[in-house]
Amino acid sequence: MKILFLDQSGKPGGAELCLIDIAKPYRDSCLVGLFADGAFKNLLEQNQIPVQILTTQAIQVRKESSLAQGLGSLGQLIPLISKVTKIARDYDFIYANTQKALVVGALASFLARRPLVYHLHDILSPEHFSKTNRRIAVTLANRFASLVIANSQASQVAFIEAGGKAEITEVVYNGFDSQAYQVPESEVEKIRENLELDGQFVVGHFSRLAPWKGQHILIEALANTPENVTAILVGDALFGEQNYVKSLHEQVANLKLEKRVKFLGFRSDIPQLMTACNLVAHTSTAAEPFGRVIVEAMLCGTPVVATKAGGAMELVEPDVNGFLVTPSEPQELAEVINSCFLQPENCHALAKNARVSASQRFDVSVINQQIYHLLK
Ligand code: UDP
Repeated sequence: MKILFLDQSGKPGGAELCLIDIAKPYRDSCLVGLFADGAFKNLLEQNQIPVQILTTQAIQVRKESSLAQGLGSLGQLIPLISKVTKIARDYDFIYANTQKALVVGALASFLARRPLVYHLHDILSPEHFSKTNRRIAVTLANRFASLVIANSQASQVAFIEAGGKAEITEVVYNGFDSQAYQVPESEVEKIRENLELDGQFVVGHFSRLAPWKGQHILIEALANTPENVTAILVGDALFGEQNYVKSLHEQVANLKLEKRVKFLGFRSDIPQLMTACNLVAHTSTAAEPFGRVIVEAMLCGTPVVATKAGGAMELVEPDVNGFLVTPSEPQELAEVINSCFLQPENCHALAKNARVSASQRFDVSVINQQIYHLLK
């Protein structure tokens, strides 16, 4: 199967990390076309997946853009669509991994007469996307895609509610190589030592820094936990959320938590860091489409608390494999942190369950088989 994957991002967010796992089995015959240069390209190369930067001009449409702004970007898109159309003729089909990739991929699939698959990693709800963007995504997917792979039931339901055709959708969760999350004790010790975390109860937050990812909720919760509870915030502002980063630092200073909150920036040693945590907190204030970090924490054997919305609810069964709290409720989160701090045995039992069930449910080879059967 010769697949032309398309992704708009040069930066490795969740959708991009998922694409690496999907493209790997096809690396001898596929191409990943990107609409921006950056660290994601390097990661693809490290995984021996062929990659080409198709444009270096940023496409000026954002998640909240209006129709006029969308139309304004058409001039930029035409050369890109024509380039993708030419390339697509050498491939069996186009696999669009993001919304802008869907726009370009849909038109190129029509012009090159190649089928289109759309991997939906988003919840197409008003919380996340403007009406125009939702309408464009649904119209193009309905008209041009033969298959829409939704990364959770939550994403699938939102797509259908936004007018998407139910009969072309299939839910496929992200896959993970559980071996990659088995970290030797010596590496964990080294991390705790390097980060000066010895003697601390460490709550980890792993996500790009963005308001809806809710790092501020964790900081607020931390103020209501014992002195030796420390938070590590792992991730960077990938899409220009510099004001939010500034506000987080101000919040930490106002609450006098400078010694208890560590900003680590973007890291690629996620399994090591997660294993070094006593608890992983997922604090998204809006429904999460899937929530890779939740599964990753489970695979590391680290207890996880997530917010009760979207895909997270399909991953966490409360008091069986983790904890769920109401989004934007720091007090509830503080209670979970305090109870894990005081009763670690209970948390460890849940984490053990979670590790076993997650390694079966999200096994990358099983997930890749599901995708293979849908594509063939
Ligand atoms: N991640 C990473 N380095 C960081 C922060 C996050 O590699 O510094 C990874 C994280 O392990 C996860 C992904 O980025 O695999 C984020 O995916 P998720 O589904 O949680 O959120 P998204 O970015 O798709 O909204």
